[in-house]
Amino acid sequence: METKRLAWDEYFAAQALLIANRSTCKRARVGTVLVQGNKVISTGYNGSVSGTEHCIDHDCLVIDGHCVRTLHAEVNAILQGAERGIPKDFTAYVTHFPCLNCTKQLLQVGCKRVVYINEYRMDDYARYLYKEKEVELVHLPIEKVKAAIVETDLI
Ligand SMILES: [Zn+2]
Ligand SMILES: [Zn+2]
Repeated sequence: METKRLAWDEYFAAQALLIANRSTCKRARVGTVLVQGNKVISTGYNGSVSGTEHCIDHDCLVIDGHCVRTLHAEVNAILQGAERGIPKDFTAYVTHFPCLNCTKQLLQVGCKRVVYINEYRMDDYARYLYKEKEVELVHLPIEKVKAAIVETDLI
């Protein structure tokens, strides 16, 4: 039988999916992997400030249609990366298209490419900013990621 290897985009997108499983928010389970030169800089999932109450143990704290308890996955990945330094021109692998706030922060720290699985609430101004900053947006649908990972004989 032919042995297939995961392509890099599927490899890191699958990691973002796995990382989303650590999310503590009930409304959306989001994962992010920041990558440069095919090496992981940092990872993040959406969750509360460390040591404070989780949405999974209470209800979400929803204001204006958003859960305000959590830090978004992208922000957590940026903060984790900041501890060691974030190199410029990295790729962000995200389970959901980044919100406007996360978009601004990703751009500000040098994101040059975004690979997203879910076309979740695609904000017009976020898309405008990516275009202005000449950031490549790549949609990698869940079916493609799943099809790539089920090739393994472990799952
Ligand atoms: Zn929540
Ligand atoms: Zn966000």
